[in-house]
Amino acid sequence: MVSAGAKPLPSGATEVAQRRVTLLGATGSIGTSALSVIAERQGEFAVEAVTAHANADKLATIARATGARLAVVADPDRYGELKSALAGSGIAVAAGPAAVIEAAERPADTVVAAIVGAAGMAPTYAAIRAGAQVAIANKECLVSAGAVFMRAAAEAGVPILPVDSEHNAVFQALGGRPMDEVERIILTASGGPFREWPSERMAKATAAEALKHPNWSMGPKITVDSATLMNKGLEVIEAHHLFGAPPQKLEVLVHPQSVVHGLVAFTDGAMMAGMSVPDMRMPIAHCLSWPQASALAGRRLDLAELGSLTFERPDLERFPALRIALAALDAGGWATNVLSAANEIAVEAFLAGRIGFLEIARMVEQTIERVAADSAPQTPATVDDAIALDREGRLRAAELIAARA
Ligand code: NDP
Repeated sequence: MVSAGAKPLPSGATEVAQRRVTLLGATGSIGTSALSVIAERQGEFAVEAVTAHANADKLATIARATGARLAVVADPDRYGELKSALAGSGIAVAAGPAAVIEAAERPADTVVAAIVGAAGMAPTYAAIRAGAQVAIANKECLVSAGAVFMRAAAEAGVPILPVDSEHNAVFQALGGRPMDEVERIILTASGGPFREWPSERMAKATAAEALKHPNWSMGPKITVDSATLMNKGLEVIEAHHLFGAPPQKLEVLVHPQSVVHGLVAFTDGAMMAGMSVPDMRMPIAHCLSWPQASALAGRRLDLAELGSLTFERPDLERFPALRIALAALDAGGWATNVLSAANEIAVEAFLAGRIGFLEIARMVEQTIERVAADSAPQTPATVDDAIALDREGRLRAAELIAARA
C-alpha cells in the first residue's frame, strides 16, 4: 500500500538528485503529459527507456527529444521503421512484447505505467519486481490482478503511486493515515458526456459522441469508459487495492465540474478533499517527484470564479456499468479480471460500430456470467494466471458479441 503524502523539500535545498525514469506508453495521452512535466523540470529527470505499441515515428521523436537510452515498439512489424527513424542517434532500438518487458526491467527510479489495457500487465509487473517505484496510470493492472500487484510491491519494498487523478487526490488527502481512521473514501466522476441523457438516447449514441468528454482529454478507451461510468467502477476496484480499503468504505459521487477529484472522510468527522483544475500533469508530477515535491506551472483553481461546485449520486439504472463493476468487486478478483477483459473487447466493438453504447455494459455482464458458469474461475494468484483469465474473458466476450448479431 502507498504509505505517505508528499513532503516538501527541506528549506534551502536547491539540488535534487537526477532521477531515471522509464515511460511505458510514452506516445499516449498520459505519456504526453508525463513528457511535458519532464520537459518543464529540466535536469530533474533522465529518461531511461520509452515504449509504444505501433507509433514508431512519434516514439522516435520522443526518444530523440528526451535523450532516452532505449526505444521499444511492442509491434514487431514496426522495428524497421523505428530503427531507421533513430539511425545515428545512438539510441538502442528493440521490438516485440518481450522487449517492452525488458525495457520495464531496466534500472530506473520510477517507471510510469501508461500502457492502455491488459497489455500493460506484464511490463508493469516486471518493473515492480525489478524494484522501481511505479507511477501507475494503467488501472487495468489493479483491476485484473490487484492482489498480485500489491503483494509484489510489498515484497520488492517499492510503492505503487497513483497517477489517476482521483486516487492521487485521495493519496494526498490521506496523508499516510491508516485505514482504520478512515470512514469513507469518495471518488468523483464527471458523469461524462451522457450525464443528462435518457437511456433511449444513450442507446443510439455514436462513438464520436462518446469520445467528447466534457472536462478531460484522454485516450479513446478511457474516454468511452468515462461515458459508461465503467471508468469509475474500475477506479473503485483500483482504490480498494491501492489503499487497502474495504468495498463498503468506497463511494462514488458525480461532480460535473471535475474540480474535487477525491475525498477522504475520517472517523473523527473531518473530511479532506483533493482539488485542482483537471490537468493530468499535476498527479503525474506528484508521482514523478515523490516523496519530494517540485513546483509545476499551469492553470490554477479560482474558486470565486467557479462560484459553486455540485455533487449528486450516480444513477445506476442509466449507467449499469458502474453497478456491474461494484458487483464484480463483491464477487472477487476473478470477476474484476473478467470485467476488465470483457470491457476492453466491448469498448473496441463499440468504437468499431459493431455494438451500441448500452450494449457495452450488457456484454460485460453476460461475459462475467458466462465465465462463471463455464469454468468456476479463481482469483488469479500470479500474473500468468491473470493473463490467462483475461484471455478467456476476451474470448467469451468476443463470442457473445459475434453471436448477438
Ligand atoms: P492512450 O490510448 O492515449 O495511450 C496508450 C499507450 O499505450 C500508447 O503509448 C500506446 O502506443 C501504448 N499501447 C497500446 N497498446 C499497447 C500494447 N499492446 N503494447 C504496448 N503498448 C501499447 O491511453 P491513455 O494515455 O489515455 O491511458 C493509458 C492508461 O492510463 C489507461 O490504462 C488509462 O485507463 C489510464 N489513465 C489515463 C488517464 C488519461 O488522462 N488519459 C487518466 C487516468 C488513467 P501507440 O501510441 O503506439 O498505440
